[in-house]
Amino acid sequence: MCDDDLITVCAACQQATCWQGEFYCEAYKTANIKQMRRGDLAKLALEHPCYWLTDEELANKRRTERRRRCFTTTVKSLNVSWS
Ligand SMILES: [Zn+2]
Repeated sequence: MCDDDLITVCAACQQATCWQGEFYCEAYKTANIKQMRRGDLAKLALEHPCYWLTDEELANKRRTERRRRCFTTTVKSLNVSWS
């Protein structure tokens, strides 16, 4: 984990929680995604740093949560929201 890690965020609101489907901004349906450095996100301080995960960290997190079986509902709602 370092300031140069690239974090995928919503291009409209620059928040990872939006891209990850935790909290959507008003533009999420049409907004693109982009990658920002963790250090730049820290300067903006739009959300808690615990959401700034690289794609690899995100994949690991999802694998872990799926094992715990608590992620299934979230995945289903995600699929609906993004279709
Ligand atoms: Zn957004």
